[in-house]
Amino acid sequence: QAKAVNRGRFSFFSEEMNSMAQERLALEGALRDALRGGLFELHYQPQIRLREHTLHGVEALARWHDAQLGQISPGRFIPIAEECGLIGELGKWALEEACFQLADWRRRGIQVPCISVNLSATNFHDLDLPQFVTGLLRRYSLVPTDLTLEITETVLMDTNPSTNQTIAAVHALGIPLAMDDFGTGYSSLGYLRKLPVSELKLDQSFVRDMAKDDAVSALTNAVIRIGESLKLTVVAEGVEDADQYQLLLSQGCDVAQGYYFSRPMAADELERWVRDFRANLNEEAGQAT
Ligand code: C2E
Ligand code: MG
Ligand code: MG
Ligand code: MG
Repeated sequence: QAKAVNRGRFSFFSEEMNSMAQERLALEGALRDALRGGLFELHYQPQIRLREHTLHGVEALARWHDAQLGQISPGRFIPIAEECGLIGELGKWALEEACFQLADWRRRGIQVPCISVNLSATNFHDLDLPQFVTGLLRRYSLVPTDLTLEITETVLMDTNPSTNQTIAAVHALGIPLAMDDFGTGYSSLGYLRKLPVSELKLDQSFVRDMAKDDAVSALTNAVIRIGESLKLTVVAEGVEDADQYQLLLSQGCDVAQGYYFSRPMAADELERWVRDFRANLNEEAGQAT
């Protein structure tokens, strides 16, 4: 049916645009099937406390491998999920999967302090979100600080009337909120005053250039000072080399994640990584000097 509608409305489109729309429709269908068919997976990226050399937590990142289409990146499927109304479901799935995984690790003595889950603005339109999370925590015997919910500034600029209420309720439950991609949106500073966030995630675009551009490193330093004075944990994203690592450490950044430490990994791989963690870090510190 959708096809017929498309044909009617978009008949003046070029061949190319038609095939793009068709590919898009196919991807949408595959996404829906994958989500309901359990074909999504979470990968986990370690977050390192820079001064202490300890594991702060892991960030859960959705992965989708399709038998025909291969690996499809979040950069491609997240916007589609947003547009076709599946992003709410994806976020809830990720929350449940993360809780399940953390409980499983705890039961088997694998020490992961907490899991950060990415949520979309749409998840905060859902007034049942706080209750949903409470249910998960109870079911998996977890406490609120076992989770962190990552939100972007789009959540804060959202005019949906439920958003403020949901954020307040999640905060009241004691679940930490992190501001993802900090520095890339609008009015970041104004929102920091009103928002119950406990973590600032310094966007990877700043980290990428900080070691080669003094103006950028002045900005990262400023963000770290803001975090310090507001008592927020600053997490640097996308740390790829020793120069960035050293600079962040010298600026007093609390936590970092990035390929320099590890790529996001499947659960079993992360377990092995956690077991080797100390040896791992020592080796990297050795390479860095
Ligand atoms: P994000 O939350 O800012 O996640 C960080 C992204 O940076 C991840 O990309 C991660 O794999 C990548 N990354 C980590 N270290 C490095 C590094 O050293 N260098 C570079 N260049 N990249 C690094 P990924 O997994 O492709 O995810 C992209 C975005 O998709 C995420 O950005 C997040 O906004 C969104 N996303 C991923 N999973 C979910 C999910 O379950 N729900 C929602 N709503 N969004 C998700
Ligand atoms: Mg994130
Ligand atoms: Mg980010
Ligand atoms: Mg990002």
